Formats: sequence, structure tokens, C-alpha cells
Amino acid sequence: MITASHISKTITLPNGRRINILNDVNFHIERGEVVSIIGPSGSGKSTLLRSLNLLDPPTSGSISVEGEDILASGYPRQRLHQRMGMVFQQFNLFPHLTVLENVMLAPMKVLNIPREEAENLAIEMLRKVSLSERATQMPNTLSGGQQQRTAIARCLAMQPDIILFDEPTSALDPTMVGEVQGVVRLLAQEKMTMLIVTHNMRFAHDIASRTFYMHEGTILEDDTPGKIFNQPQHAETKAFVQRIHKLVFDVENQNFDFYDMMSQIRQYCIRFAIPEQMNTITHIVEEMILLLSAYDNPFHIEVNHGEISGQTSVVILHRGETISPLDKSDVDELAVMIIRGMSKEITTEQTPDGIQLTFTI
Ligand code: ADP
Ligand code: MG
Repeated sequence: MITASHISKTITLPNGRRINILNDVNFHIERGEVVSIIGPSGSGKSTLLRSLNLLDPPTSGSISVEGEDILASGYPRQRLHQRMGMVFQQFNLFPHLTVLENVMLAPMKVLNIPREEAENLAIEMLRKVSLSERATQMPNTLSGGQQQRTAIARCLAMQPDIILFDEPTSALDPTMVGEVQGVVRLLAQEKMTMLIVTHNMRFAHDIASRTFYMHEGTILEDDTPGKIFNQPQHAETKAFVQRIHKLVFDVENQNFDFYDMMSQIRQYCIRFAIPEQMNTITHIVEEMILLLSAYDNPFHIEVNHGEISGQTSVVILHRGETISPLDKSDVDELAVMIIRGMSKEITTEQTPDGIQLTFTI
């Protein structure tokens, strides 16, 4: 359905230097494939999508969509824009139009569909993203998740064969990511051909039949999500997919903001979709802070979460100490029992900085 051969994009900076934003990108995507695109910021993911839909054509190479060379001079761009929709991080809805009018506009203007038919089509698309009750509202009265679902309905109203998503959930509050991902999942079940750039590794893994790992303007690895995330071939891919998200606190004295720490931990759990573990994590941290507060030495707390491994741990370093706070003779036995009961495993390690405990959750 889409074939990209040797596409490159070179730009000349104001200082005359030329840089390669895309560097010999090649792929072939069949109808119904769902491809997730991951990679560090600046690796060319957005530029690749913008090349495919000619928002920002490549400087060399060829792209064919359903057998047609879209880079050929005289190729009607409008035909491409009917076939290929795009959903951005920013929803870009027209603020002065209702939800329904936003969805109706392109079919009327671009496809010349009569108003009544466009309205029926728009209602159908809004139903698909579960927003038919919001049809008469203005965009600014909707939540971010609802606005993004409207943007998806607007894209669907053009009845595209392919949809490109550029970080569709990055601008959303963490609580609204799920509803937008749900709509994309529904489209995947309906066999819509999609290319989805996302920073959410769990989503990239679960939604796609294929994953591209982009690095410095090239597709360094193109494989099934299972391979990319569990058996990556390149060191760069491995480092990227196995990276661990850390939340770090250094407590120097008793005047730290305990409530702020707890709220940061809760936010972190919501952000990385580990709410089931939120209570365990906050309990362990709370109990440990109570134990550690009996001593003057500062301590360091880390919450670590591997998005793909799904492994979460709490690391506590009690600076300048040689005995674990759980093993001290005057320790609160009940607190220790609670802490041990909540952890899958606790390891203790003597480091040059002090005694370090790792709680696997
Ligand atoms: P990603 O979406 O993976 O974060 P982009 O495709 O946005 O990456 O950008 C790739 C690289 O190209 C970045 O280093 C970016 O700064 C640069 N870049 C993209 N477009 C332009 C442009 N029009 N002018 C200068 N640099 C650009
Ligand atoms: Mg981008």
C-alpha cells in the first residue's frame, strides 16, 4: 500500500550547513498493517510522517501509495489527502465551529458532499469515537481527550485508507491517554492501515503488528514489536526500549515536603500506568521515611519503572550507614513486617555512600 524507497531529506541551515534529517529510509507497508514508530526525540519521526503526506516532501527518493508515485510532478495532492489522514499532538480544531461542524467541514469542502449527507457522516464518526452527545458543543468546552477524539473523527470523516498519528497522546493529561488509545485500538481492530509515532512504549508494543525504531534519520530496526522490545538487534534500540523511568528524591533533613513527595509518586504511577502499584509504593516509602526519620543521616529515594519489563522498584540509600534500617536493634517490628509483606523481594547492599535497599514491587 505504501512503498518508500531511499527517501532522504536534506536541509540547509541559515549558516549554510547542510544536514540530513532523513537518511535513506526504505519500507513497504501492506494494507491493514499497524506500524508503531519509536525513537529518540529528533530522530526524524515527525519528518518521516510529514514526508509521507507531502506536508514536507523528501529531497530525494520515491514514495508510492497504492501504486501511484506521489512525488511525481503533477500528482494531485488532494487525492493523497483523501486517502491519508493525519492526527497531530495538537488537536487543531476550529475553535469557532461546533464539534459536529468541525467533523463536517472537510467532507463538504474537499469532497463536495452535500450538507445533510456530511452531517449524517459526521454523526456516524462521532458515534465511533463515543462523542455523539457532544456534537453541538464548542471545542473549548471539551476535555483534551475529547478534543483529540474529535480530531480523529474529523480525520475519519474523509474516509481515509491510511491514518498517520504523530504522538496523539503527548499533549494529554495522563488520565485521558487511555480513551484516545482506545479509539486507535478500535481502528486497528477494523484493520485501518496506520503509522503511529508514540513515546508510550507499552502502547507502541501492544497496538502494532510492526515497529520501526528510528535513529538519526534512519529506520535502524524494522521488526515485530515482540522482537524490537524483547530481542532488539542493535545496541541503540536496546538502550532505548529498556530505559528506565526514575523518580528521585534526596532528603537532607527533616524539613522536606512529605506531601509533595507523595503527590509526585502518585503522578508518576498514573503517568506510567502503574496505578495498581501506587498504594504499595507510597506505603513502602511512607513506612521507610518513618523508620529513617529516627536517624540524622540523609537518605535518597528512587522509584524506578521499566515500561516494557513492567518492573517497578523502590531504592532507598541511607547515607553513611552500615546497618540496614530494617535490621537495627531498636526498629519498629510491626513496620518492618508491613514493609516485608508488601515487597516481592528486598535486597540489601553496602555501597561506598551507605546502605542501599532495593524493594521489588
Ligand atoms: P522527531 O519527530 O523524531 O522528534 P523531527 O522529525 O521533528 O524528529 O526532527 C528531526 C531533526 O530534524 C531534528 O533534529 C530537528 O531539529 C530537525 N528539523 C526538522 N525540521 C527542521 C527544519 N525545518 N529546519 C531545521 N531543522 C529541522
Ligand atoms: Mg516529532
